[in-house]
Amino acid sequence: MIIPVRCFTCGKLIGDKWEEFARRVKTGEDPGDVLDSLGIKRYCCRRMLLSHVEIIDEVLRFYEEAEKRREARSYYYQQ
Ligand SMILES: [Zn+2]
Repeated sequence: MIIPVRCFTCGKLIGDKWEEFARRVKTGEDPGDVLDSLGIKRYCCRRMLLSHVEIIDEVLRFYEEAEKRREARSYYYQQ
């Protein structure tokens, strides 16, 4: 959903590195090299970024649609 702020296992701060990691991997860089250059060495922290799937935008889209539907329904019942 949203990248956790800290590593679940060791507590190292990783949330601030997600955006750079995702951007650089998208441009075609090797994920392992990106993690090395960001200073993420332990495998507990590396898995946090490597296994993360960013779905918050998808979830928000459904929330917005539900909100629109709710507004339309309340408009309909006012008449
Ligand atoms: Zn860790």
